[in-house]
Amino acid sequence: MRWQQGRRSENVEDRRGMPRGTVMVGGGLGMLVLVLLVALLGGDPMALLQQAGNQPPAAVNQPVGGEQDELKEFVQAVLADTEDVWRDLFRQQGRQYRDPKLVLFNGSIDSACGYANAAVGPFYCPADQKVYLDLSFFDELKTRFKAPGDFAQAYVIAHEIGHHVQNQLGISEKVQRMRGRVSEEEFNQLSVRLELQADCFAGVWAHHAQRMKNLLEAGDIEEGLRAASAIGDDKIQMQTRGFVVPDSFTHGSSEQRMRWFRRGLATGDMTQGDTFNAREL
Ligand SMILES: [Zn+2]
Repeated sequence: MRWQQGRRSENVEDRRGMPRGTVMVGGGLGMLVLVLLVALLGGDPMALLQQAGNQPPAAVNQPVGGEQDELKEFVQAVLADTEDVWRDLFRQQGRQYRDPKLVLFNGSIDSACGYANAAVGPFYCPADQKVYLDLSFFDELKTRFKAPGDFAQAYVIAHEIGHHVQNQLGISEKVQRMRGRVSEEEFNQLSVRLELQADCFAGVWAHHAQRMKNLLEAGDIEEGLRAASAIGDDKIQMQTRGFVVPDSFTHGSSEQRMRWFRRGLATGDMTQGDTFNAREL
């Protein structure tokens, strides 16, 4: 991926190495919102709930020094690319895109959606419109999920930004309002549709980023697809439980995630991402 030449976003908040403070928003509504609405990319919601207790954050392997600095620059560059594309697409619709912040953290963090540990993976919090990312997730992507490469990482960021787009369009709120009004299985279904739409939006971003900036190199699309596939719920459940329980899917299967990412990538058209009215996912 040719990310070096572009500008760097100023919307990255570096909170690595900062004490997370004494404010515990976790538990109660905040935690529920975090578990149910905020997209947990590759994370296990149960792990999050278990952490809602008073356990100290688990130690995580952090890349150090120069590697971390370069990763941060990479994140700033990709975030800038998402800003440029989404500002443009929103403008075309007569809307104004509000840039989200992206918070880098180490180990654990307090967000407006509650306390979170890096084990949940990157997530977007609609309440403060911020993406939260522990850079060690990129290591995990490479080793645990076998999805190496810079474009795999860019896909992860673009997916979270996809949730921000959904938030701006009022889609996340609509889904959230259904919570408690429909069965848990039905709510999971809505949640899958929300996730697959974020995948499609990640593809829409890649389409336009390529057109505007010629970012993609040979093999990049495959890296993105591998990441989309690797963090599908069926794969993760197979890894963690050894079997697949479709009713509890909240992100969609590997095949579905690849399909929706591809659709956005091929068309560059947001309206192609209407997963809520799609008869087949
Ligand atoms: Zn998500």
